[in-house]
Amino acid sequence: MKRRKFVKGVAFAGVVGLSTRSIESCNVVKPPFYIATWNNEQAVKTAIEKYSSSSSLLEGLVKGINYVEDNPADQSVGYGGRPDRDGNVTLDACIMDEKGNAGSVCYVQNYKNPISIAHDVMVETPHVILAGAGAESFADRMGYKKENLLTEESKEQYKQWIKKSEYKPIINIENHDTIGMLAYDESKIVGGCSTSGLAYKMAGRVGDSPIIGSGLFVDNEVGACVATGLGEKVLTNLSSFLVVELMRGGVSPEAACKEALKRIIAKEDGTPNFQVGLIAVSKAGKSGAYALYEGFNYVYASATEFWRKPAPYFYTYK
Ligand code: ASP
Repeated sequence: MKRRKFVKGVAFAGVVGLSTRSIESCNVVKPPFYIATWNNEQAVKTAIEKYSSSSSLLEGLVKGINYVEDNPADQSVGYGGRPDRDGNVTLDACIMDEKGNAGSVCYVQNYKNPISIAHDVMVETPHVILAGAGAESFADRMGYKKENLLTEESKEQYKQWIKKSEYKPIINIENHDTIGMLAYDESKIVGGCSTSGLAYKMAGRVGDSPIIGSGLFVDNEVGACVATGLGEKVLTNLSSFLVVELMRGGVSPEAACKEALKRIIAKEDGTPNFQVGLIAVSKAGKSGAYALYEGFNYVYASATEFWRKPAPYFYTYK
């Protein structure tokens, strides 16, 4: 049954232009490096710069993600993020280190750097996840500044949206860009992600990004994966954990991402009408990505190199 559904999806995709790419690409690049979702070039550049001065892979990662959280022009992450349908900006983030330690915050309001708060949850508390008011009072105790994250631009867009209040679960591919980042330095792999989630989501909604194994998973013995796209699908397929487990079985990063997406496709009744993108790094320092739909890029920076690449994909869209 699942197989039949998948074949059906692919057949429809053929009509709109199924990707025919069959040669797998595998990036082998000089460590240390940072790799991130979407067009977050400045984030990976900031991360490698911080690494150069601190020699800490994790500090570089946090600094790189902070860059996006602080940037009001990015309306899917941190300050300036699009609000939920009640008009509140609520943030999710998580982080994982090479020892398997993890920290996460979800449904955080009024603190623009959830990746830093997640880092502090990992380092300073006996817990992995803090949510809502508890996460906010922890942030307050840790000295984070409380501020309104709704910018005029996001407020104006929200005012327009509320007129019809139409929530379309079909993701506009240009309209979401969680920052997910993985870092590699030969002996260590670490990862993190941060997002304001889906625009105009229900109040209280938490996506995949702060959930270890869904939005992010790191196993220093094997590799790491980070996800972006429709969080509900990533959550119910535990996609990042699955990619790492596939790599454990010897599958390359790109092929593992592709296989994890096939599992999502197989559960859909027809062609998926949402985007999911995955990027992965293996213990050997190879990296790869795959997406359901055309339009997902990923970026890479080391001390000497920088590139941005489109991920291979299953479907094109009109
Ligand atoms: N995965 C995020 C979420 O569902 C959204 C995104 O990647 O843009 O909250």
